[in-house]
Amino acid sequence: MNESAPLSGLAKVLDEVRATQSKNAKVERLSAYLRNLSADDAALAARLATGRSSPRGSRDETQVGYSTIWQLLTEISGTPAKAISELYLRYGDLGEVAQEALKSKRETTLFGESITIAELQKTFDTMARSKGKGSSSSRRALLKSLLLRSSPPEAKYVVKILTGEMRTGLVQGLVEEAIAKAYAIPKEEVARAHLLAGDIGLLAYGARLGELSKVTMTPFRPLNFMLAEPMASPTEVADYFKKPIFAEYKYDGVRAQLHKLGGKVRIFSRRLEDVSESFPEVSRAAASIENDFILDGEIVPFRDGKPLPFQLLQRRLRRIENFEEAARNAPVEYFVFDILLLGAEELFDRPLRQRSIALAAAIRGSGLLPAERITVASGEEIARAFATSRALGYEGLVLKDPESAYAMGKRGKSWVKLKEELDTIDAVIVAAEYGHGKRAGVISDYTFAVRGRDGLKTIGKAYSGLTDSEIGSMTERIKKLTIKDYGYRRSVKPEIVLEVAFDSIQESDRHDSGYALRFPRIKRIRDDKTVREIDTLEKVVSIFNSQKVKLAER
Ligand code: AMP
Repeated sequence: MNESAPLSGLAKVLDEVRATQSKNAKVERLSAYLRNLSADDAALAARLATGRSSPRGSRDETQVGYSTIWQLLTEISGTPAKAISELYLRYGDLGEVAQEALKSKRETTLFGESITIAELQKTFDTMARSKGKGSSSSRRALLKSLLLRSSPPEAKYVVKILTGEMRTGLVQGLVEEAIAKAYAIPKEEVARAHLLAGDIGLLAYGARLGELSKVTMTPFRPLNFMLAEPMASPTEVADYFKKPIFAEYKYDGVRAQLHKLGGKVRIFSRRLEDVSESFPEVSRAAASIENDFILDGEIVPFRDGKPLPFQLLQRRLRRIENFEEAARNAPVEYFVFDILLLGAEELFDRPLRQRSIALAAAIRGSGLLPAERITVASGEEIARAFATSRALGYEGLVLKDPESAYAMGKRGKSWVKLKEELDTIDAVIVAAEYGHGKRAGVISDYTFAVRGRDGLKTIGKAYSGLTDSEIGSMTERIKKLTIKDYGYRRSVKPEIVLEVAFDSIQESDRHDSGYALRFPRIKRIRDDKTVREIDTLEKVVSIFNSQKVKLAER
């Protein structure tokens, strides 16, 4: 085997990458470095450069905390703890502290040889695999001897990788670019292989050998999840797709990618953490299926045909109770809505309608359930499905284009979500604009306000929810109520009250209330209400605060 490259070289390159603001220069520097490495080293270097000591989805975490590193730096450098704290205050980065502190190393070892990146990786692996009693002191000892042998810049990166705080500005996309450039491979090819490999190290390895076409989707290497784009109303969804689409319940649980290889099953969370141990009954059901596969779905607390509160899952994820107790208190179902791989066949870029057929056949009789789905073709059908979903205790709908591929890591409009409405706000129209496209010529965009302490305060702008005929008569009313006409925009006497639904409230400097409704849509024109009866800014603030509590709970 060839000698692995020295860590000092990687540290030097990363220092240079950090020193420049220019993305091109960062890419250039990293690619020049990668180009001269062996495939094994390129894999390690690419991974380490992104602050990872193990492949994505690996169970091998080095598990060294800040306090251990902190103590070791004090011990090795002979710098008093107080001085280390001061360094930390100055740099705000434990890696930098390591570099500074180790300039005055008190202890050294007799090893004169430099550390190679392969050796560094091996040490990290050993640290990760040491488990159980005495493991924290053996990890500490391993790190100590590593730091003793490190030069100050090397120590800086050892610590940075362990804490995952690289601060080099090397986002995944730039590392991808550097790999493409290093081995003269088209960027698109690298990007595609990266999606399939799910790990930057494997990507660099394949690229270095010129074998990217051999990179395949493989169980136990988690993939980026496809995400849904929010839409405001059934009408907006119907207008966007203009064809029959799939409507599935929006289950409120945890997103889970289920991988099976041979007799083994692993479950990855949305953050690509391995959560298999929290849901053994799901793994067991999956293990009963003969084929290998990668599935996508949602684990939902569920009993007697009904969803239970999401909060019950928290305890299972943190494994507060033993399994029997957990399964009693929070029984779960895994609702599967997609399949990316079946046997050796990559299905992700087939149309959803085909994937669904394969999925149904694959999980039949296993205990894993397919997500419930109907086909809808109009705003009205979507609204009805939404109401059914809410009545049964689900969060809303996810609507999917039957012709779409599974776009890993993308939030696009092939999947669209319609969610529970938080609450509604009664607000008054204070300004309005002509619409665009098919709404040109009618006044269809309304800025609305709530009551603040010293007058009306704007809080959002809505352009959806009304029918064409409502917009027509609204146009006439607004023309009559116009205070000042600025051409495309006009200020309007506050008289027309709207009931507005929304997804959430955000702080915002766009509106003089200091808040903005997110995805506002008009539920109704409230001609039964006068401007004196609209909602107050206080109500807005109180909803804003309550959703913060909800978020914190999650
Ligand atoms: P959100 O978390 O509001 O961005 O909504 C997207 C999430 O809804 C996804 O990440 C899934 O966890 C969840 N979800 C629930 N049911 C479905 C479904 N049928 N299809 C896709 N995603 C779903």
